[in-house]
Amino acid sequence: CGVFGIVGHNEAAHMTYLGLHALQHRGQESAGIVTWSAEGMCVQRRTGLVSEGFTEEVLETLPGPVAIGHVRYSTTGGTGIKNAQPLTFFTKFGRLALAHNGNLTNAVRLRKELESEGSIFGTATDTEVIAHLVARSQCENIVDALVDALRKVTGAYSLLALTEEHLIACRDPNGVRPLVLGRVGESSAIASEPVSFGLMGGVLEREIEPGEMLILKNSDGGRVWRKPFDVVSPTPCIFELVYFARPDNTIFGRDVYETRKEMGRTLAREAPAKADLVIPVPDSGVPAALGYAQESGLPFEMGLVRSHYIGRTFIEPSNSIRHFGVKLKLSPVRSLIEGKRIVVVDDSIVRGTTCRKIIKMLREAGAAEIHFRVSSPPTTHPCFYGIDTPERSQLIAFTHTVEETRRYITADTLAYLSREGLFRSASATIGQMCDACFTGEYPISLESESRST
Ligand code: 5GP
Ligand code: SF4
Ligand code: MG
Repeated sequence: CGVFGIVGHNEAAHMTYLGLHALQHRGQESAGIVTWSAEGMCVQRRTGLVSEGFTEEVLETLPGPVAIGHVRYSTTGGTGIKNAQPLTFFTKFGRLALAHNGNLTNAVRLRKELESEGSIFGTATDTEVIAHLVARSQCENIVDALVDALRKVTGAYSLLALTEEHLIACRDPNGVRPLVLGRVGESSAIASEPVSFGLMGGVLEREIEPGEMLILKNSDGGRVWRKPFDVVSPTPCIFELVYFARPDNTIFGRDVYETRKEMGRTLAREAPAKADLVIPVPDSGVPAALGYAQESGLPFEMGLVRSHYIGRTFIEPSNSIRHFGVKLKLSPVRSLIEGKRIVVVDDSIVRGTTCRKIIKMLREAGAAEIHFRVSSPPTTHPCFYGIDTPERSQLIAFTHTVEETRRYITADTLAYLSREGLFRSASATIGQMCDACFTGEYPISLESESRST
């Protein structure tokens, strides 16, 4: 998911629309914007893309100088408008809106406890647990109540909360998902990725640090910083650098495009191939393929052309759409491929279904040999911190060895980037970032209930 918020802007809803549009790659199932004006809270949520749901008429219904917004792809709670965010609540402190990126690891247990004590939940999201904890807090005000609530939850959250007086931005102590502070003219803005600020002529000020809470006053934009949690070693998500974040961006202090290219260069050194050309699986494989080509000295060609009128296939939640999607999305350039030995570079293999179809497509277009290269290690474990990987039994690297995977996808050779190579490319040492989907070493404890979601 992606979040955006802004304080003290006379077109807050429009800015949020732009900010969310820049984050559309983080979620395409639903979008929502909440503003606060003299008349109180205004809420609009729609399924689908920001540009589809938020027409000028809809934006007109969102007055006021402060706004938060959310683009969603479901990790818990399933699809549909009911779980679209920002979620809004009535509490004893007044109204509250929440926009959450990440996934809580103790939400299932907390929800059971709350329900057994009489709480009634309106959505299937883990985020709603936070609101219930706020509502029950004995603290004097809503900011302290939010701190109180967040101290009870574990897992990943880059969270925006909007109340009558404040816009509050908070990142979990591990800092799993990104969250950044920027300036748009005189206004303060918060976004999942800095690319949001660029779109509206704003600038990145700095990252919200792991465990930091920034409280912006709606009336004058005044800032208060807090560090309300026990300090732990941060473990930002390395998969944001591999795949999830936009490449024209800085995430966790690293240039995403350069980092992906470096992964490709490292991969070329670790797993060279005798071939005629290098082609990426667009778009996610492009920077790594460029790095691979440059390091290996092989020509880089766009041997697969991507249709821009279809979204990221894996974000589509239904299996039938995902299967159908590959051909709709990619098509081979026969004149480039015919008779050639080809290195195909992609960022990851998850189920193996997409790359199997891509290889079939390339063979049908006359490829002589296919050497598949992956710019991350085998995905052997699901993510419980906000990336929608399928359950373990569906991960091809869990059920198959590399050699079995090679046979399944019908490549001539298959190689993955090593764990060491991944971290070196990301200018990090092992342990400084989460890489649990490649290792099973989960840095934030998992409760048995949440493992099954
Ligand atoms: P596969 O070949 O495993 O079917 O699909 C791999 C493609 O899915 C890659 O191009 C990759 O960019 C994309 N992908 C990346 N991350 C994920 C994820 O978390 N889940 C799924 N299902 N696909 C992903
Ligand atoms: Fe990121 Fe993988 Fe860790 Fe999830 S498990 S937070 S995708 S590195
Ligand atoms: Mg891809």
